[in-house]
Amino acid sequence: MPDSHLQHLVCCMGQPVAGNPTQYMMEMAFADAGLDWRYLTMEVPPDRLADAMSGLRAMNFRGGNFTIPHKTSVIQYLDELSDAARLMGAVNCVNRVGDKLVGENTDGKGFVESLRTLVDPVGKKVTLLGAGGAARAIAIELALSGVVAMEIINRSVERGEQLAAQVRDNTNTSCEFKQWDGNYEVSEDADIVINATSIGLGDAQAQVPVAAESLQSNMIVADVIFNPPETQFLKMAQERGCSTLDGLGMLVNQGVIGFRIWTGVEPNAAVMREALEEYLEI
Ligand code: NDP
Repeated sequence: MPDSHLQHLVCCMGQPVAGNPTQYMMEMAFADAGLDWRYLTMEVPPDRLADAMSGLRAMNFRGGNFTIPHKTSVIQYLDELSDAARLMGAVNCVNRVGDKLVGENTDGKGFVESLRTLVDPVGKKVTLLGAGGAARAIAIELALSGVVAMEIINRSVERGEQLAAQVRDNTNTSCEFKQWDGNYEVSEDADIVINATSIGLGDAQAQVPVAAESLQSNMIVADVIFNPPETQFLKMAQERGCSTLDGLGMLVNQGVIGFRIWTGVEPNAAVMREALEEYLEI
């Protein structure tokens, strides 16, 4: 029977974007929640982003995810930013509120939500490996969540120093940068150690240069790599008796947060994780 109801639309824009698992995860979650929403994955080159954003407004999309290379450039087409997105200078989730498009960043929030399944970040000391986009999102969100001290370890000095200064200048978290040279010895007072580099992406054997004996059993060790989720870094941490968090948890939780922002409905996170595992064949 014909239905006059219009489906709600959200999307993912990026380039290259084929193989991005978010559509599959979101559509499974919409179906599970009984919501008549659609999620479209759209290949948008940088020089067509302005047109695509006009289209998104004209076609009344409820919002979308933005991935490489649009996380920074999309900001000029938005009406408002959340505090975290402004501090990160990057948006990965847009929500339409009335006529306004509001930019949010759910990467760091997804990480923190995953972390909270093991520990409250308030008052904790963090060692963060990496200073790229994922590291920046995690650093800012952890600082806003009450982490007391953070050290940022990165191979290239400029990015590492910039991120440490940004955390120091904009939050109450003390933060220092150390250049990554050889096997890094994690200091024994660290509570949480995070690999936020791309080491391990698509390579289950890749080694993150960290001295295994510096990992203590009271530490929580996390990895942002979600494919494959069982990284050498997490295996090394498990052998040292650490509690671990894989990158799939972060990915699922940033999806959970986006779903919640758009629909106002709490999705079934287990359905989303299952969908991701099925799509990624893991
Ligand atoms: P970027 O390219 O912005 O940053 C990469 C980081 O990795 C930089 O700090 C870089 O150091 C470091 N790095 C890369 N290779 C090496 C190496 N051989 N030795 C030491 N450091 C190295 O990438 P993103 O931050 O955007 O993404 C990083 C990873 O996070 C990706 O694998 C991505 O898939 C994953 N990710 C996971 C998410 C999730 O939900 N689980 C969400 C977002 C990202 P340098 O500055 O010196 O180049």
